[in-house]
Amino acid sequence: MTGAEKGGFRACADKGGPLTEVHLKFRSSSANLWRVVNPGTGAQYTFESRHLPEVRKSESLGVVRVPRGQQSAWKIVDTLNELYWPASDANSRGSLCWTSRQPDDACEQLTFSWGKDETEGGYFDVGDSNQVVLAAGDADSRHTILHEAGHWLQWQLYGHWLPATPDCEEHTFALASSPGCAWTEGFADAAAAYALGDYRYVDVDGTPFDLHNDRDSDWDRGDSVQGRIGSSLLDLWAEDGPDGGGWDRTIALMSRHRSDDFREHFTVDRPKADLSTTGEARDIVREHTLDY
Ligand SMILES: [Zn+2]
Repeated sequence: MTGAEKGGFRACADKGGPLTEVHLKFRSSSANLWRVVNPGTGAQYTFESRHLPEVRKSESLGVVRVPRGQQSAWKIVDTLNELYWPASDANSRGSLCWTSRQPDDACEQLTFSWGKDETEGGYFDVGDSNQVVLAAGDADSRHTILHEAGHWLQWQLYGHWLPATPDCEEHTFALASSPGCAWTEGFADAAAAYALGDYRYVDVDGTPFDLHNDRDSDWDRGDSVQGRIGSSLLDLWAEDGPDGGGWDRTIALMSRHRSDDFREHFTVDRPKADLSTTGEARDIVREHTLDY
């Protein structure tokens, strides 16, 4: 495990006596919970530290750097921690897996396919591949990485299921698509922002989109608008919000109840989990033009 601040680490060998040669090999994965693979070979990225001959005691490896052409793959590995930590915290069983759907000894692994020359990508591959496919530049945005992982997380929470998402090809924050599209895209936007502790979607070229909106905003209105859904979720999960200061109860609820759209999630499923649909919670969604 590397230190959180500077990334320092110690590696120990239990073999007694001098070692004729020592090196460390790094793989683009985090234990068995997620990995990044090369789309050409399907294999994880790897690199080795410098090789030390005749090691008798502690020796410094010096600074270990990811090779230039692989750096985005390792950025993906690193960024996925940001979603895994709050997702696993929200797991009522304290499971090691991403969701409480799986037993600890059979966690499902999330795979990101990323290649430095790939031009096609930027989607979660709905099917049973547990795979997100990114184009080369998609990894430049942590929000994009986490948004796509957010789609996978919802699919996992729902037991390998996502609602129908008509009119979702050209979806964007402030324009109406369909309730199913806005629910899945809004959840993914909110998951990324929540994981990173902000209220934005920062695109791959670095352009931030502020998800704040209200009844006066010049946005389309209602629950077919993904930005209305994403901001509603972020407000419900806010530190001083009505859900107890985070998304834990929403994650627990979603692992038990599927919903076709946000209306069903809010009006039918929240009551099943004793989450409020009146007072402050209703004020929040109404402020985002969801008049339930
Ligand atoms: Zn999406």
